[in-house]
Amino acid sequence: MERTFESWEKEVIRCIRCGACQNVCPVFKELQAESTVARGRVKLIRGVITKDLDITEGFINKMSLCLMCKACVVNCPSGVKVDKLVEAARKEIAEQKGLSALKKLIFRLVLKNRWVFNSGMKAGSLLQGLVFRKGPQGQGMLPRMSLGIDKRRLLAPLAPKSFRSLYPDVIKVPDAKLRVAFFTGCMINYIYTDTGKAVINVLKRNGVEVVIPALQNCCGTPVRINGDYEAAKQMAKANIDVLLKEKVDGIVVACGTCGLALKEEYAELLEDDPIYAEKAKQIGAMVKDFTELVVSLAGFEDKLGNLPIKVTYHDPCHLVRGLKVKAQPRQIIQCIPGVVFTEMKNSDTCCGSGGSFSLAHYELSTKINDHKVADIKQTGAEVLVTGCSACRMHIADGLNRQNVQVKVMHTAQLLEMAYEATDHSR
Ligand code: SF4
Ligand code: SF4
Repeated sequence: MERTFESWEKEVIRCIRCGACQNVCPVFKELQAESTVARGRVKLIRGVITKDLDITEGFINKMSLCLMCKACVVNCPSGVKVDKLVEAARKEIAEQKGLSALKKLIFRLVLKNRWVFNSGMKAGSLLQGLVFRKGPQGQGMLPRMSLGIDKRRLLAPLAPKSFRSLYPDVIKVPDAKLRVAFFTGCMINYIYTDTGKAVINVLKRNGVEVVIPALQNCCGTPVRINGDYEAAKQMAKANIDVLLKEKVDGIVVACGTCGLALKEEYAELLEDDPIYAEKAKQIGAMVKDFTELVVSLAGFEDKLGNLPIKVTYHDPCHLVRGLKVKAQPRQIIQCIPGVVFTEMKNSDTCCGSGGSFSLAHYELSTKINDHKVADIKQTGAEVLVTGCSACRMHIADGLNRQNVQVKVMHTAQLLEMAYEATDHSR
């Protein structure tokens, strides 16, 4: 039986109201309002569970003002799963109040149906020039009109062709030492195809055969965290079926959010499903972030060329606090000859993206992002490396707003550059 909203009371009462979450919540840091810190949210949720409070517009707004960054969760002495509570509240809101027509359209018609999603992205790629103009120095694009997106916001354009349409289903490697399935996620498939290309090139060089299942779809996280569990479950099951068909040694991801969905959240979402509960666990046990996989490959650091650049690294929330991947990207960056790595202050503080958070609360997300940009600037880095496409886009926007010339890329791209530097020096 599916978990009820009321059953979360057990989690809510674990909050001892110590206030430790105030020191780490990026939203509270800006708004200084008790209702926007974990302790306040937990109290509000308890009120709705006990029926002392109704689901009002104010409650809905407070629940939407959470980045789901997990900073409070890992710093909470009682280990209160605040992000899970907020998610449960959003589910309850969706069930009681219904989803908006736009969310229903996006979640149930577009994201869930690969063909519709693909066609929409193809059309978007062709027509984006009508509603967006080129960004400064030809980088990214800015909205020509409001379109529900802030006109100052620098976005990365949709790629002319999706990543998955550019590659065969299997990238063969002679005498492969490993065979993995690459779960690309939406942003790599439709926007940052350069990250996908780098993942393939790095793995190929290291003797890993890569399968790119053509029928994979969105991981479902945007749908789930907005409370549409029915659609999220269907998407999880479809991806599980697609991935389990492949004869592979593991599943590689290059996005912390997709990785966390596949590794843990599918199993939570489907824990009561008689058929898929076990399958979800099976998938979870196979998932590795790109950097985890690379550092496990003997000799990956051989044949890296010289890259005389200053680099710093931003830890994506779901990668560092979800998948607990922190050392591996640093190990990769620091073994590249010539790279001068400087750790930034607060490298694991949320950049303010939070998926749809930055769409719904752009002004606030830019204030959170300003701290990240200041920390990047202080390092003097020329390149900011990260492991999540959403962080990449949001940080690039912040750097552009403040006219800071720092290139943003995925760890896989930096590694690809280092291998290519060897080729060029021959
Ligand atoms: S840190 Fe944890 S226990 Fe303390 S107030 Fe925040 S949520 Fe409650
Ligand atoms: S998950 Fe992040 S944004 Fe949400 S309450 Fe916790 S620290 Fe604040």
